[in-house]
Amino acid sequence: EKGVEKSRSGIMNKIGKAIAGKKTVDAGVLDDLEEILITSDVGVKTTVEIIDRIEARVARDKYLNSSELQGILREEIIALLKDHAPDKPADFDAEFPQKPHIVMIVGVNGVGKTTTIGKLAHLYKTSGKNVMLGAADTFRAAAVDQLKIWSERADVPIIQQGQNADPAAVAYDTVESAKAKQADIALVDTAGRLHNKKSLMEELAKIKRVMGKVVEGAPHEVLLVLDASTGQNAMQQARAFTDFVDITGLVLTKLDGTAKGGIVIGVSNELDVPVKYIGVGEEIEDLQVFDRELFVNSMFK
Ligand code: GDP
Repeated sequence: EKGVEKSRSGIMNKIGKAIAGKKTVDAGVLDDLEEILITSDVGVKTTVEIIDRIEARVARDKYLNSSELQGILREEIIALLKDHAPDKPADFDAEFPQKPHIVMIVGVNGVGKTTTIGKLAHLYKTSGKNVMLGAADTFRAAAVDQLKIWSERADVPIIQQGQNADPAAVAYDTVESAKAKQADIALVDTAGRLHNKKSLMEELAKIKRVMGKVVEGAPHEVLLVLDASTGQNAMQQARAFTDFVDITGLVLTKLDGTAKGGIVIGVSNELDVPVKYIGVGEEIEDLQVFDRELFVNSMFK
């Protein structure tokens, strides 16, 4: 449960206070709930959907009282997440039938992209997979160095070129090397300078293109990394990326440091992209495969 405690206590404390002593779920309780969800960064659109669902239940189940509200909220949020996220993958081979499985990781600088790649490398490596990293964020000098450090921590090879190398060339090399060495999975880092959106999106498109030339269907996965602690900012970044890149999954980082875990619920609902992993700390083990029931249950226990 490491990491989501703050999110839980944040939302739960507020809901607990709002419903204390209330005998029925009336308009006042629903108003309070709406405000709590919005200030917990669930987002307006998703909050309205949740409130609508609860209102419908209140209208249907005549004897509903406030103390049942938490349970109902939990059920409705799980149902909402179910509409947008598949069940937890059974295992690596079932989910990733292609070999090498090519994953491109995108996201704005500072969100925890490099750290996430290191954690993912560790996760797959320790489950017996052959992992390879590609340092295609050649724009920031430090990015390649940081990724190199993570490759050493996770004990996996890294493909890199000199500073200012063509990122698409690094991506090409990585995929080609993964194919030649029969790696199971290659994780390719990319640049995240959103202030120069047009050139970034062109760069990402080019990286995608060259990967597909080496291995059919590559990249098989494009993960967008978002910093959960930035709330609605993360939501905006997500929209900016999904406008240009086909994102197949989300990684929400820094959930250990925020009381606003509601973003996890809002972002997958609004973008219709599943949350695949959550980051709950700075260490190599601090990554969890997202499990919606576990997550929501731990928030609404
Ligand atoms: P990048 O610029 O997106 O590659 O970001 P980095 O991977 O360099 O991470 C930026 C900062 O966020 C570093 O200090 C990381 O230790 C920290 N960080 C990354 N993921 C998490 C997380 O899940 N929880 C916490 N608390 N910090 C994280």
